[in-house]
Amino acid sequence: MDLFEYQARDLFAKHGVPVLAGEVIDTPEAAREVTERLGGRAVVKAQVKVGGRGKAGGVKLASDPADAVEKAGQILGMDIKGHTVHKVMLAQTADIAEEYYVSYLLDRTNRTFLAMASVEGGMDIEEVAATKPEALAKIPVDANDGVTPEKAREIVEAAKFPAELHDQISEVLQTLWKTFIAEDALLVEVNPLVKTGDGKVLALDGKVSLDANADFRQPEHDALEDKSAADPLEALAKAKGLNYVKLDGEVGIIGNGAGLVMSTLDVVAYAGEAHGNVKPANFLDIGGGASAEVMANGLEVILGDADVKSVFVNVFGGITACDAVANGIVQALELLKSKGEEVNKPLVVRLDGNNAELGRKILTDANHPLVQQVDTMDGAADRAAELAAAK
Ligand code: GDP
Ligand code: MN
Repeated sequence: MDLFEYQARDLFAKHGVPVLAGEVIDTPEAAREVTERLGGRAVVKAQVKVGGRGKAGGVKLASDPADAVEKAGQILGMDIKGHTVHKVMLAQTADIAEEYYVSYLLDRTNRTFLAMASVEGGMDIEEVAATKPEALAKIPVDANDGVTPEKAREIVEAAKFPAELHDQISEVLQTLWKTFIAEDALLVEVNPLVKTGDGKVLALDGKVSLDANADFRQPEHDALEDKSAADPLEALAKAKGLNYVKLDGEVGIIGNGAGLVMSTLDVVAYAGEAHGNVKPANFLDIGGGASAEVMANGLEVILGDADVKSVFVNVFGGITACDAVANGIVQALELLKSKGEEVNKPLVVRLDGNNAELGRKILTDANHPLVQQVDTMDGAADRAAELAAAK
């Protein structure tokens, strides 16, 4: 999960990375009081999860409270690379003498963490990396050792920061590392890290991306999620503990096991080519359990998707046998009916693996008008695609 700049700023402050005071607002008029509180001047910054706001006109200096109201009015509602600005941060202004760059990220290819640092900060670091690679120091950081004072010095020297700033930047590198580890981040980036006119080092813009796999041990991160931007179906699925990703096709997919669901998406996309190019509407892995409740939750999410025209339930019985899954499907349909949910889309079910015969018999006996069974994965995908195209 990517954070807004103001959220990154808050995390930096929490772990001791030097930042300037700032407040977030969503109406121009609110800028007046905040700017007064910040000392009469402010930098007004669009809060959107995309880089290059400065160049796009999303960062403006305001010389007094009235000016801040005007600048906030200009920036709020602005479109920056497809992102509408709903909030602006007002921050204390800095007297910038130089702009640098520092970041930590997970370097998957080399199976390590990586520190990157440059005295050429401020602008596009991608451009620096492409046109002047020698200006961007890249230092691996061992996960167990972390950024010790020695490691910080190594980074500072590799990036050729001015000697008089070594201690300050070394301190920033260590507190930034603390942020990275304590918050389970995949990326923390400061651009620019500035030297002010009076020789102080400050983090003026921050980008943080958190690792959602660590959500279970980061209860405070839930509050950082931008609920307004979340897809409502994905939010519903998340609340129900389902592994769901919305896609843009017409065939709803439910399967057990991520690998099976991934291949189901491929098979449905392929089958769809013969039926007016219908495509999978989602990824949904109901995991190993596949109880009636999990199945009902999965169906509820998928049937709630107006784009879905048919549903393909693809299950390979393993530890959870097919008869349990079949009972789950039957009970799920009853559960949804008793909750007053409208079930009016055809379901194609393919059961294979452990106790497949018994599972199929349970569905046959239940004789639900919307449920059809096809015994092969390819055949079931083709039928589901055909049904979706016919709607
Ligand atoms: P980005 O363009 O999305 O990366 O947004 P930044 O927050 O990095 O801001 C872009 C640029 O605006 C920075 O590189 C600075 O040059 C400038 N800027 C940001 N805050 C201040 C400030 O307080 N004072 C001054 N003078 N310039 C600032
Ligand atoms: Mn920046």
